[in-house]
Amino acid sequence: MASEQPTEGVSVWETLRPDFPVQSLQSDLRTEVLVIGAGVSGALVAQALSAQGRDVAVIDKNAPGDGSTAASTCLLLFEIDNPLTVLVDKIGKEKAARVWQRSFRAMQNLTEKVRALDIDCDYALRDALLLPGKILGPAGLRRECEARAALGLESRIVEREELLREFGIDRPCAILSGNSAEAHPVKLALGVLRRAQAQGAKIFSPVEAASIETGEKYAIVTTSNGHRITADFVVFCCGYQLPEFLSVKRHQIVSTWAAATKPQPQNLWPSKAMIWEAADPYLYIRTTPEGRVLIGGEDEEHNDNARRIKRTPAKLERFRSKLSLLMPQLDFEVDFAWSGAFGSSSTGLPMIGNVPDMPRVCAVLGFGGNGTTYAQIAAEMIANALGGKAEPDIDLFAFGEND
Ligand SMILES: Cc1cc2nc3c(=O)[nH]c(=O)nc-3n(C[C@H](O)[C@H](O)[C@H](O)COP(=O)(O)OP(=O)(O)OC[C@H]3O[C@@H](n4cnc5c(N)ncnc54)[C@H](O)[C@@H]3O)c2cc1C
Repeated sequence: MASEQPTEGVSVWETLRPDFPVQSLQSDLRTEVLVIGAGVSGALVAQALSAQGRDVAVIDKNAPGDGSTAASTCLLLFEIDNPLTVLVDKIGKEKAARVWQRSFRAMQNLTEKVRALDIDCDYALRDALLLPGKILGPAGLRRECEARAALGLESRIVEREELLREFGIDRPCAILSGNSAEAHPVKLALGVLRRAQAQGAKIFSPVEAASIETGEKYAIVTTSNGHRITADFVVFCCGYQLPEFLSVKRHQIVSTWAAATKPQPQNLWPSKAMIWEAADPYLYIRTTPEGRVLIGGEDEEHNDNARRIKRTPAKLERFRSKLSLLMPQLDFEVDFAWSGAFGSSSTGLPMIGNVPDMPRVCAVLGFGGNGTTYAQIAAEMIANALGGKAEPDIDLFAFGEND
C-alpha cells in the first residue's frame, strides 16, 4: 500500500540527529591544520590529524554533518561503483587492483576505527549482494568474482536457488561480499568529530571560507566575515560544493534520490545484507535498526535543487515498481523521501592530494556513491603524508588523474 504523504525532502536520519557543540569564530586564528568542511570527510581527516597530536581547526559554513553526509544512505562498501573488471579498462590492471585493494583495507580500517573509538552510530557489519544488471550480466559477475578472488578480496557467487531462498530474489546469480557495513551517517560523522574535539581539534561554525592566499610556508584563508585563518596546511573537504578558487576540470555533480519505508521487520530478509545492482543508474537497498527498508539511486547528472524536488514523486514511483519486481514480499509504504547531490569524476574515483599550484593545500573531492569509504582513504593518505610516512597509493587519486 502506498503512503499518502511521505516526509519529502527530510531524510530518515533527521529524527535521530544528535546535537553538536561548536564555537563561533570571533577573531583571526593561527592553526597548524585547517580543515574546511565538517562532513564525514572533514571529520575523519580532523580525527586522524588530531590523533597525531596536531593543532587542528575545522570550519563549516553550515552545521557539522549537514552536507551530503546528512543525505547519505550510508552503505559502507569496499566494492566501489566501478566493478574491478570495468575499472581495469579505464585505468589499467595494476592501478585498478590497487584501488580495489585500498578500498578493501579502508573498510577494514573504518570498522576498526569505529570500534576502537567507540563511536555510537548504529554501525553494523553486513554482507553486500551485487545483482546482475546492464554493466555486468551473470557471466560478467562470474568474471568479476574471479578477478576479485585473484586479489584476495572476499566475494563469492550466490546461485539462483540460494538467492530465492535467502532473499526472495529471482535472478540467475549474484556476488556476495563481506567486509561491509551500514551506519547512521550523521551519528558517524559527528561521533568521529567529537573524538577529534576530545583530542584538541576546534570546530567553528558557521564559518565560510571565502578566499585563500597560498605561500611556501603557510596558507591564509579569509572567511566571509573577514577573519583570517593562517595554517601550515589547509585541507578542503567541501564535498561537491567546490569553491571557485579550486579549479577542477570535468568535475560533475550528480543528483540522487532515496526513500525510507515504514518499519516492516517481519518482511526483511534474514541476513539484512545490503543489495545493489551492476547497472547505471543502479538501485540499492538496505535496512535500518527500526526495520525500515532504505532504497536509493536513480541518479541524474545535474545539481538543480528545484528539479530534484519536482522529480521526487516520479522517482518514488520508479522505486516502487523496481522494488515490487525485485522483492515482492516488501511493502513500499514510504515515510521519508529525500534527494541530494554528490561529486563525481570521469573514472568514478575521488581526487585526494595536493592541489596543483597551491602549495600547502590539499583537497578531498569527487566521491560518487562510495563517499564514506573514500573519506576513510583520504584520512589515511593525508595523515600519512603529513606524518612523513610512505604513501604508496598517492598516484591513484592525484589531481589530474581522475578529474
Ligand atoms: C542521497 C545520497 C545517498 C548517498 N548514499 C551513500 C552511501 O550509501 N554510501 C556512501 O559511501 N556514500 C553515499 N553518498 C555520498 C556521500 O554522502 C558523500 O560522498 C559524503 O557524505 C561526502 O562527505 P563530505 O564530508 O566529503 O561532504 P559533505 O557531507 O557535503 O560535507 C562538506 C561540508 O563542507 C561545507 N562547506 C562547503 N563549502 C564550504 C566553504 N567554502 N566554507 C566552509 N564550509 C564549506 C559544507 O557546508 C558541508 O558541511 C550518498 C549521497 C547522497 C546525496
